Amino acid sequence: MKIIIFGPQGSGKGTYASRLSPLLGNIPHIATGDLLRAARDDKEYGEKIRHYQDTGGLVPDEIVLRTLKKRLDQPDARKGFIIDGYPRNAEQAKALDKITAIDVIINLVVPEWVLLQRLSTRVQCKNCSTIFNTRTLPPKKPGICDKCGGPLFQRDDDKPEAIKKRLALYHEMSAPLIKHYRDQGIVIDIECDSPDIPPEIVVNKIMDRLRTFKKARGQAKTK
Ligand code: AMP
Repeated sequence: MKIIIFGPQGSGKGTYASRLSPLLGNIPHIATGDLLRAARDDKEYGEKIRHYQDTGGLVPDEIVLRTLKKRLDQPDARKGFIIDGYPRNAEQAKALDKITAIDVIINLVVPEWVLLQRLSTRVQCKNCSTIFNTRTLPPKKPGICDKCGGPLFQRDDDKPEAIKKRLALYHEMSAPLIKHYRDQGIVIDIECDSPDIPPEIVVNKIMDRLRTFKKARGQAKTK
């Protein structure tokens, strides 16, 4: 399945996508934020990427699209993928429509107070990008990644000023995109209105809804 996981910063896209991937035949979890972070040393674009990422702005569309397209062209993405962090504006949605057909959008619906609480306690591994939360999903040893032993850090764009800017950008440019996909009948809304719901519970809910969606789509096709 070709999936987009959609929602504001702090809604849990990365946490849920990384857990969904093994349940969906190991389709890759492709996070544009991580792809761009890995390209921060690029000779041509690195400086721009660093500037926009560190201040909570959007990296120019052309750079993001080129980075994403290169990743989608890799063999492991042929059988499907979960895109996290793209599209974020109308231009990006149009560009994606031209390169691939998305099957389903998982739309995470989370109140703003939950987002703010989650983002302010979120830390990420410098080596493998795994996300932890010092309150709700702490690493076994403080400051150390459970998966690879790398150091955990708070991203500059998770600091209060950048968070405000990122959420404002989401509401202005990204949230309206859901209509584009709702009109195609491919949106699954997942409501998460507490900061303390264990990820497994949300992931099970998403899997149930995906099964129902696939079944309904299969029936519609055979009619
Ligand atoms: P994320 O990890 O998805 O919150 O992304 C972190 C940062 O990477 C964002 O604040 C942007 O600066 C940049 N970024 C990620 N995805 C995109 C995108 N689709 N368009 C523009 N910038 C992006």
